[in-house]
Amino acid sequence: MKNLWKQFLEFLLPTPRICPICHKQQSQLMICENCLRLLETKRQNHGQCQRCGTFGYCAGVCDNCRVWPNYLQRNISAMPYDGLFREVILDFKHRHRPWLANILAELLAPLLPQADIIIPVPLHPIRLSERGYNQSALLGAALSKQLSIPMHEDILLRTRNTPHQTNLSRTARIDNLHDAFIVRHQENIKGKQLLLLDDVLTTGTTIMTCAKTLHQAGAASIISATLASGLR
Ligand SMILES: [Zn+2]
Ligand SMILES: [Zn+2]
Repeated sequence: MKNLWKQFLEFLLPTPRICPICHKQQSQLMICENCLRLLETKRQNHGQCQRCGTFGYCAGVCDNCRVWPNYLQRNISAMPYDGLFREVILDFKHRHRPWLANILAELLAPLLPQADIIIPVPLHPIRLSERGYNQSALLGAALSKQLSIPMHEDILLRTRNTPHQTNLSRTARIDNLHDAFIVRHQENIKGKQLLLLDDVLTTGTTIMTCAKTLHQAGAASIISATLASGLR
């Protein structure tokens, strides 16, 4: 029944057969060889901070990561938040193309370590009803299938819709956000290795605040992953 419904939806709204990055026609929805090569070149040329995954650092860690919290091991990112790669994330997040989740997750999957549970960064319910979907949860569902790791959407919840706070230091921003998230069903993460997921890492504040909340609730270790990280 589920399959029939899927086929019917596919008939009404067929998934475009393109490369989602350069929009070239393809036999199916897939990232073309040129774009994969471009991504590999970017990864090699720019290098990444070994802690937050920000692009533009060929050795060691970036200036922001000299101080790094003990509750988050590191952040892994598949692509720079720049040019065509930035556009495809904006398509996924703001231009209502939730069907990009699976193909974008395929870029991240080979980079990720094993974990017990995937936890997506939650949206505030108001933001969720505006957008219609949580892009991090869609990504999490796709990765959950690809990596056979269960995803839990009901553990980390967002209780406050927070404004941007660009003028504060990273530590001050984490303190400022600390009550924006709560953990439910703590028993499900006690002693577990968590993979925390978001779409983009810019300042790192959101990921770190979520990691801190999960750590305080008893998680054994936390690694985060984002589709993209900034390019400096
Ligand atoms: Zn392409
Ligand atoms: Zn860094």
